[in-house]
Amino acid sequence: MSEVEEPELSGPPTGDMPPDQFRTVGREAVDWVAEYLESVDDYPVLARVSPGDVRGALPALPPEDGEDFDAILRDFRDVIVPGITHWNHPAFHGYFAVTGSGPGILGELLSSALNVNAMVWRSSPAGTELEELSTDWLRFLLGLPESFDGVINDTASVSSLVALAAAREANLPEAFADGLHAAPRARIYASEEAHSSIYKAGITLGLGRNGVRAIPSDDQYRMRLDLLREAIEEDVAAGIRPIAIVATLGTTSTTSVDPVGDIADVAEEFGAWLHVDSAYAGAAAMLPELRPLFSGWERADSVVLNPHKWLFTPVDCSVLYSRRPEMIRAAFSLTPEYLRTPELGKAKNLMDYGVALGRRFRALKLWFVMRYFGARGLRERIRNHCRLAAHFADRIDGETGWERAAPVPFSTVVFRWVGAGAADLDAMNMAILEEANATGRVFLSHTRLRDRTFLRLSVGNLKTGPEHMARTWDILSEARRAVQERTAATSPTS
Ligand code: PLP
Repeated sequence: MSEVEEPELSGPPTGDMPPDQFRTVGREAVDWVAEYLESVDDYPVLARVSPGDVRGALPALPPEDGEDFDAILRDFRDVIVPGITHWNHPAFHGYFAVTGSGPGILGELLSSALNVNAMVWRSSPAGTELEELSTDWLRFLLGLPESFDGVINDTASVSSLVALAAAREANLPEAFADGLHAAPRARIYASEEAHSSIYKAGITLGLGRNGVRAIPSDDQYRMRLDLLREAIEEDVAAGIRPIAIVATLGTTSTTSVDPVGDIADVAEEFGAWLHVDSAYAGAAAMLPELRPLFSGWERADSVVLNPHKWLFTPVDCSVLYSRRPEMIRAAFSLTPEYLRTPELGKAKNLMDYGVALGRRFRALKLWFVMRYFGARGLRERIRNHCRLAAHFADRIDGETGWERAAPVPFSTVVFRWVGAGAADLDAMNMAILEEANATGRVFLSHTRLRDRTFLRLSVGNLKTGPEHMARTWDILSEARRAVQERTAATSPTS
């Protein structure tokens, strides 16, 4: 036997962080997290930095030699944290408010330790099966039928892209082999209030921006059924194939609810795939009193909702349900030889359900969240957010000068100042928003509706209580007074 020379073992260290050090600094990091969660209300919600500040405070090039972990944590505390807009803050009310909850954070920590990649069942049996189980649990809580099969993606944008790719596969199969060159013109229909991700999906799928036709909405920002039908009939007469309709339950601007049951009738009549985007509001289907708003979504071909929006799961986690998972597989399964395993056909291979091959173990944090809070705990927390929002809406309604844009079916209030103070109400509302956000005690965002600017307040953080809502109201009132006085002082007629 020939002697094999052992590799040279001296020289710079090549291993990972030693376990003892991991224990010590890991405890420090967990302590930091606990303290952060306890005192997050003391941080300014909106980061007080200007573009370039964070980069400018850090070395432009990486260190040649590894650094002490204390130094790394120090920069995290001193440079990174001040550059954070605190989504986990109880007074974060912008966009859709969210929570990275304790159990969710721990799930995220443990999943990164396991570091599995659930491309095929064999590469992570528990990762695959827990994704099946946790999406089944969630489906049960939402009251969707068992025929819906769930997978977890990063975002709703990707979930909707996958759903619409399946719709294209179902209704425009000519496109699979040779692309759209070989296919007739096709269209997707969505309300003018639908999320921009639907248009991005149209572009990505090769249908183009105009491949998604925006259907006008009614006075409560719900898709108009008569105009949907008219648009489809017009397209069909022109030889354009209707491949999908997107109904939004909880639109981004006002959380309006499209009439999904009636839209399902239209989808059925024209053979179009029905995709429901309930990225934010879907979680509210857990509440029996809100379930009627979702009536008809069980007829959809696919439904998306994001536990990272209103189900206390850290970003990212978006669940896509489909009653026709075989169409998703038809659109996406291409198995290279190295991924052919003996389990083919016997177990789910998550790589067949989207563009990405690899998958993070997102199910773990979702499962932790559902177990820790329980069905009743989840319902109570969502209900509480709805109550806080309803109370805020009552304040707006009861105060002269403020106006609400739309009903509040969930936990988001859209409103604006219309009282005395400015000729340009849009500019005044933006000034009120900036003034309030500059206090660091609250963060709201804005939207445009029918060419007018409105403020949006969304409740979704588990730490938000009546005291935060009262404080937010005071800050907004004070901001309004300050802007009004400033405007009066600079007005040419004053
Ligand atoms: N759909 C709706 C209704 C949304 O409100 C949003 C974002 O707010 C999205 C889709 C996109 O979500 P994501 O950031 O997960 O892609």
